[in-house]
Amino acid sequence: MSLFLFAIGMEYLSRCLDELRLTPNFNFHPRCEKLNLTHMMFADDLLMFSRADSVSIKLLFQAFLKFSGASWLFANLDKSEVYFGGVSVDVQTELRELLGVSQGTIPFRYLGVPLSSKKLTIAQCRPLVEKNLLSLPEWNKAAVTKLLWDIAHKANNLWVKWVHIYYFKHKDCWTTPTPAKCSWFLKKILSCRDVVNDQGGWDGFIQGNKMKIKKLYAAIRPQVPKVPWKRVICHNLETPKSVFILWLALWNRLVTKDRLLQWNISCDPRCFLCLNSNESVKHLFFDCEYSRQVLNKVLGILHVSKPVQHFSDEIEWLKKICRSSRLKNKVVHVAFIETVYGIWLQRNAVLFTGCYKPVDVLVRDIVFHSAYKIPAASKYLIA
Ligand SMILES: [Zn+2]
Repeated sequence: MSLFLFAIGMEYLSRCLDELRLTPNFNFHPRCEKLNLTHMMFADDLLMFSRADSVSIKLLFQAFLKFSGASWLFANLDKSEVYFGGVSVDVQTELRELLGVSQGTIPFRYLGVPLSSKKLTIAQCRPLVEKNLLSLPEWNKAAVTKLLWDIAHKANNLWVKWVHIYYFKHKDCWTTPTPAKCSWFLKKILSCRDVVNDQGGWDGFIQGNKMKIKKLYAAIRPQVPKVPWKRVICHNLETPKSVFILWLALWNRLVTKDRLLQWNISCDPRCFLCLNSNESVKHLFFDCEYSRQVLNKVLGILHVSKPVQHFSDEIEWLKKICRSSRLKNKVVHVAFIETVYGIWLQRNAVLFTGCYKPVDVLVRDIVFHSAYKIPAASKYLIA
């Protein structure tokens, strides 16, 4: 489903649930009434709230069923849970049987973090920070260094004036030894002088006379090696979904049958498109006869005379193409990504519908989409 369509669907679901506030028999959850809150959603996760009485819960589910009837999107009851607070065991049993879902216990985890009415500890937040956001120690160091910048540049605030008067006594804060009796927090800030010295001074982190935490963080965060195919993925005119499929293929993370078998999921290992060899990223791109013909014809239309090679060799070739800013090479770049995406879609089409497009039809689609991305390059694509 496209993101746009998904957003429209979720808006409709929101409206169905919001209508409950106009329903006289519906009782809000006691802590949600003043906000008229019936639900919260994040992506495809939905939390619904009501008072624990059978009438309110039935109304809540009727609102959801109205959405299901219009969208044909249904809740997976095996993955749904009901949570109670301050409800007798008898009522819990009655409502659990009414809903037909299992009962969960609070706090439950969401995005790796426990949802709780109490303040979260640093340890509980750590999964979210480490998985999704940034390297916390380095970000913390960069943020504390910002306070050092304020002290060193005598920012106009009371705390900085106080530090200068009582600790540095108008001496240079950069060369003065850390005062023995200062607080642990100020010691921590002054220790960041080493961070700045290690980076060769402030120059790299200044923008418009202000120190940027983000720039310092970028300099001190753990460095990971750059991938050799960076140019293949970045700076092209393709859609993110097409680039994403190529990116997964480059990491060998497409869910091909060889990986399913590694996970002990039984399936016919043969390629959907040719039924001649076992399916893997290497086979799909472009050892497979179907894929080979598709890329061969696309390259032919672009007047690129070279044989179709294995995936790794094609990527090596594409890396060279991507170094050039010539219009034709930009077209080849886009057409290649579109070809990988098109083949992956056809592979999925066999899985879900049992059929796929003939080579010439897919090639025509690839050419059309590539010309659409770079209209100025139509001369290379439309003979
Ligand atoms: Zn095949």
